[in-house]
Amino acid sequence: MKPQDELPEVSAPLPWQAQDWSHLNQQLAAGKLPHALLLVGNQYTGKTRLAMALSRLLLCHQSANGLNCGHCHACQLSASGSHGDFRWLQPEEKSRVIKIDQVRSVVEFTNKTASLGQRKVVVLAPADSMNVNAANALLKSLEEPAADTYLLLVCHRLHSLPATIRSRCQIQKLAVPDAQQCLAWLDQATLDRGRSEQLLALADGRPLLAQQLFAEDAADALTRLRLALRGLLTGQVSVPEAGALFAAASVEEFLAHLAAEIQGLLRRSRGPQLSSRQGRAAFVLLDEILRLQRAVSAGANPNRQLMVDALLTKFERELGDGQLGDNIQVLKGGIQA
Ligand SMILES: [Zn+2]
Repeated sequence: MKPQDELPEVSAPLPWQAQDWSHLNQQLAAGKLPHALLLVGNQYTGKTRLAMALSRLLLCHQSANGLNCGHCHACQLSASGSHGDFRWLQPEEKSRVIKIDQVRSVVEFTNKTASLGQRKVVVLAPADSMNVNAANALLKSLEEPAADTYLLLVCHRLHSLPATIRSRCQIQKLAVPDAQQCLAWLDQATLDRGRSEQLLALADGRPLLAQQLFAEDAADALTRLRLALRGLLTGQVSVPEAGALFAAASVEEFLAHLAAEIQGLLRRSRGPQLSSRQGRAAFVLLDEILRLQRAVSAGANPNRQLMVDALLTKFERELGDGQLGDNIQVLKGGIQA
């Protein structure tokens, strides 16, 4: 979700965000909404949608029922992405990082008077894609925000953000999406509860990913990738075979698939399994993947082939033939669908 995307008249939060949304509204009504707000939550759960809904609410001149009105001049401008008091900062095309020049121009923007005479809003998403220099350039704005200016930072890896940034923001950890609400929401697209359940399981409970899999008809391809990883653990698939299946995936996608598979294994494991040698190895490998993800999002460019081979080999050797997790029925159901 970006300002340049086509926006509806009213930007509402998603069903599972109702509690977070009402908390933000209460803060706003009480004049206590922090000027530097850090929204943290899992990927594909709608954090940027929430940030967009809050931005448009802050800019709206006639907000009603806790949402932007959709009709005032400010809402028309924010819907078309041309509101002069609104900036949305994200990595520029082909870049993985928010650069210092982008942050400097936003700092300059926050120091000017609002052109429509109300509030100014800046969204940084994902905030952890700022490099160190960019983060440093932002510190002063976070510390001494200009009047009626709101900085909304969005990220899913809180500890990838420098402590200097974290400590200057009020952190709101967004609720984990409720499965029943996710399913009801997915049903609107799939018109099939069984299909919604398969998609949500395949997406590890992340509703926007499930929706994307449905929209792109990509569930079967993803199921094959995830089954290949499971095949590695049971000796049915070799490392080169699994690597070949990931040939079309970017480094980020590969890391995300592998991390999701390990997280799924851990989630389905019981207490004693988690503290077993394999359980501990799973956490160690997950840490390594998270470090790589951070390095890649900060601009590192590892040798893809070497990295894929090394990680798949470790995954097979450390977690293979093990007792971690015990539930692959949903995936099997997914591939038959
Ligand atoms: Zn409005």
